[in-house]
Amino acid sequence: MDCIFCGIVRGEVGAQVVREDTDTVAFRDLNPQAPVHVLVIPRQHVASVNDVGENQRAVLGGLIIAARAVAQAEGLAESGYRLVLNAGADAGLTVSHIHLHVLGGRAMRWPPG
Ligand code: AMP
Ligand code: ZN
Repeated sequence: MDCIFCGIVRGEVGAQVVREDTDTVAFRDLNPQAPVHVLVIPRQHVASVNDVGENQRAVLGGLIIAARAVAQAEGLAESGYRLVLNAGADAGLTVSHIHLHVLGGRAMRWPPG
């Protein structure tokens, strides 16, 4: 399977990794949209949130717990941050390996674009 994020998990594709645990890897986005922009992915390949089975709830929980740790390490816990999970074309999904965006370091607008 030709998945760029699986390549990062395997260490075959370069990335600025900021955090790893048994289930997730977190690395800086190549095209940051905020002063802090980190992607948190499961080591396991899951294409999108649409493909997370009822018995895989821990995959989503693990992403959020890891994202919280990233936000804390990046100094965002107090100032605030946004977690974004895109699904499908209308949301702008471009990489089909589930990833949680951690965005912070500036005030976020609402509604999102
Ligand atoms: P999405 O639009 O939710 O699918 O977001 C995909 C994100 O992955 C975009 O913000 C890209 O800038 C980012 N991205 C794509 N390839 C890489 C890579 N090799 N390393 C880091 N970030 C990447
Ligand atoms: Zn993958």
